[in-house]
Amino acid sequence: MWMMSSYGASHSLPKWLCALFTIFFVSLFPLAEAGIPGYPDYMEIEGELRYLNETYSEICALNSIGITYEGRTIWALKISDNAWKDEDEPEVLIMGGHHAKELVSVLVPLRFAESLLENYSSNGTVKNIIDSTEIWIVPLVNPDGYEYAINGHTYWRKNRRPVDIDGDGEPEGIGVDINRNYDHRWGEQGVSRDPDSEIYCGPYAFSENESRAIRDLALNRSFVFSVSFHSYGQQIFHPWGNSLDTSPIDCELMDAIGEGMAKYNDYEVMEGWKWYNTTGDSDDWLYANTSCLPFTIELGTEYIPPPNDIGKIFEKNRGALMYLL
Ligand SMILES: [Zn+2]
Repeated sequence: MWMMSSYGASHSLPKWLCALFTIFFVSLFPLAEAGIPGYPDYMEIEGELRYLNETYSEICALNSIGITYEGRTIWALKISDNAWKDEDEPEVLIMGGHHAKELVSVLVPLRFAESLLENYSSNGTVKNIIDSTEIWIVPLVNPDGYEYAINGHTYWRKNRRPVDIDGDGEPEGIGVDINRNYDHRWGEQGVSRDPDSEIYCGPYAFSENESRAIRDLALNRSFVFSVSFHSYGQQIFHPWGNSLDTSPIDCELMDAIGEGMAKYNDYEVMEGWKWYNTTGDSDDWLYANTSCLPFTIELGTEYIPPPNDIGKIFEKNRGALMYLL
């Protein structure tokens, strides 16, 4: 699109010159033609967040919470009445896209932001929620990984930072699993120390800009609940994700809240470690270090559901989020 608008006067140029320009630019930006139908790329997601921020400026505020290795902004959209003011209201964190290939996990929080903002003036329940809470939505925690995945590498899970452990200038691998990089029992269970592994936990806890961005946001706010979307599995997990800690004192409460959400999405609720053991994920860190009750929702039955299925997945989980709020 930008080529057409930047070169709107091209009708005055000879056709062969236009063709040459086209070949030149297409070879410069081969990925511009790539992508996956139904799934926005990073630029489109960023554009949508800016659009929402401008259109609903009274009730949302777009914040940069970090910059990735490849220079992309990690965006957090705060939704609340008097969004630019810090009011004494309960705060909730909703995240997506820790894992690059889990594309649908980005769309659900993004669409949820849209639906809240679009319905504020017409829906009393939505208005009440926005007026009485502060909802922080980070739809895409790992923009570099997502952009790589959506452009022909749909197997990719980690971020895209080259990791040079021994400092010899030659990276041993590319990328860290962001959801193994948080600092609660970091590196102890369900991770790999091999930089080539897709569950590589990083050279040390919080080595990555993405996990630090979420950490710093959480330490500066006081979230009471969080939901981190992943795909896939149709489950609602809560701490612990590891089998090393003893059962959390809020276990029954988190089970009950999880079951409340499950009435809407019909997913299975459990402590995360009962499905598989892991350390260094966002839920365990949030639970151990802040006053947040965190949940992970594994959406649907595949990493990248067909575009026609996204609406159904969204509706079920919109219900779950509305219940939580
Ligand atoms: Zn995941």
